[in-house]
Amino acid sequence: MGDLRVNNQESGEEIHNADPCENIRSSLEKILELVGSAVYAKDAKTGEMLYSNALMRDIFKPGTEKGTLYQFITRENPGQSGVSEVFHEFDQSWYDLHYAPVKWLDGREAYIYTLYDITEKMLYQKKVEQHTYYDFLTGLYNRLCCERDLSRYIDEAKKAHGEGVVLFLDLDDFKNINEGLGHQYGDILLKAIAHSLQRVRGVEDTCYRMGGDEFVVIVPMASHHRLEDIIYDIREVFSRPWYLRGSDYYCTMSMGSVSFPKDGENVHELIKKADIAMYEAKKGGKNRHVKYTKGTDSQQGKRLDMEKNMRDATISGYREFEIYYQPIIDLRKEGTPCTGAEALIRWNSAEMGFVPPSEFIPLAEYLGLINPIGNHVLVEASRRCKYWNDHGYPDYKVNVNLSVVQLLQPDIVRIVDSALRETGIKPENLTLEVTESLAINDMERMKDILNNIKKLGIRIALDDFGTGYSSLNHIREIPFDVIKVDRTFIKDLEKDAYSRSFIKMVVQLAEEIDVNICIEGVETKEQYRILADMNVGLIQGYYFSKPVPEAEFEKKYTPELT
Ligand code: C2E
Ligand code: CA
Ligand code: CA
Repeated sequence: MGDLRVNNQESGEEIHNADPCENIRSSLEKILELVGSAVYAKDAKTGEMLYSNALMRDIFKPGTEKGTLYQFITRENPGQSGVSEVFHEFDQSWYDLHYAPVKWLDGREAYIYTLYDITEKMLYQKKVEQHTYYDFLTGLYNRLCCERDLSRYIDEAKKAHGEGVVLFLDLDDFKNINEGLGHQYGDILLKAIAHSLQRVRGVEDTCYRMGGDEFVVIVPMASHHRLEDIIYDIREVFSRPWYLRGSDYYCTMSMGSVSFPKDGENVHELIKKADIAMYEAKKGGKNRHVKYTKGTDSQQGKRLDMEKNMRDATISGYREFEIYYQPIIDLRKEGTPCTGAEALIRWNSAEMGFVPPSEFIPLAEYLGLINPIGNHVLVEASRRCKYWNDHGYPDYKVNVNLSVVQLLQPDIVRIVDSALRETGIKPENLTLEVTESLAINDMERMKDILNNIKKLGIRIALDDFGTGYSSLNHIREIPFDVIKVDRTFIKDLEKDAYSRSFIKMVVQLAEEIDVNICIEGVETKEQYRILADMNVGLIQGYYFSKPVPEAEFEKKYTPELT
């Protein structure tokens, strides 16, 4: 059908070269063969093909008459003239398709189409887009793409009076893994997390890596009915360990969420609010999910203030930080004497007043500032203990808390060793308190670090025992000298049989494996009596004394400093 001949309607004869028009037609036909684009014409009413050149016939080879392009050309009438980019499934090519209504040679209404192959251009564009919208490391979409998509989802939700949610995820203590195991393992972890997030049903195409260890998941209107399940599935992803360099690693995350358009109609505002909520989750002790509320906003200002003030306070010689001491009492000795103290930091900020450790320590860990601050406590508390030891209290010990972030510093053993040398404290009078949740991250590494610290002669206490993760294993694997039972077990000691049994069991266990027990949070005489009957060794709590400033501690517990 590749010709432009038409029938003479009246005579039924074909018009041949005698007609001068025929010359034009045949020239036109040649031209159309040579234009370098496919050309197609069809009857506007019947859809009958009126003309196609060789290139066009090549595209619509027999047997390929289906797919988007074919549909577009043969089934529909485009109305006015225009241009579209259309995909042809058969040869996996893209075409620029120009079309226009024309009057055909015989006067009927027709459409003419020309097609240019633009596959190369499209592939190139896709590549560019990949660079622009993809995260190179994880293969997830990136921040730019997140912003583009979110803006679309907000519009969609607004129009349909629906609701969507932005989830902002930040890994907890990713720094530890990255610095502890090396960046290549940090990268592997990020990829594995990205892969698992993409498999959560309902958000397969709406996971983004925002940079570093931050991810965003958009729950669009269409998946909103699954929101609770999606959040559950995401948390599940982080409840299992990742296998890295021969062992299991747990990596939890903190998550903040905002609803759109309820909490904001603007992309940046929403992401910021989700980030604020995420930070609240961090501050609340990590590994949790916090929904954004209006009240969270004022917290944000506070966070920035706190961050700046804390940096200033560490730079300007730690004057705003003060170490308080809480006595630790030996129940089994005559007269229940004080055996030393736990050093607990206090921050009295010139700008913000008193900030409790529960508020600033998580931020200090997040910012890495816990290292210099913790080091300051280590050195100052050791120095003070050495002073007590030298002036009439040779057996007094000091306990210093060490957060996981500190423990995973590559040179932690050297840091502790130099604190010993700098202050001259006898190693056996220094106890480092570590929490048990840390142990799960990397047992082998933890064991190494703690063993090396112990080789210096220092004692190690397992803090907050009974909260957190599977505990007894760690006691077996790490050579603790003291187990500190968390104060949640003491709260209802008088009424609660379970608490009493728990403590009894721990006391027994401790005897078997020759470890000291210290019970924290003893507040009442009744609790004190019960514990004394159970043959508990050490106790600590408001019943004896709250943590107090150095001078006050010394007045009461080292009255005879010589
Ligand atoms: P922690 O190590 O479990 O310290 C015990 C906490 O219980 C202290 O809170 C102490 O004041 C409180 N406490 C003691 N006895 C009682 C009692 O009878 N009743 C009640 N209700 N509470 C009692 P604080 O001083 O607010 O410290 C909170 C946490 O901050 C500590 O928990 C510790 O994890 C962390 N922390 C404190 N100082 C440091 C430090 O120098 N370095 C690090 N890394 N963490 C620290
Ligand atoms: Ca402690
Ligand atoms: Ca504790």
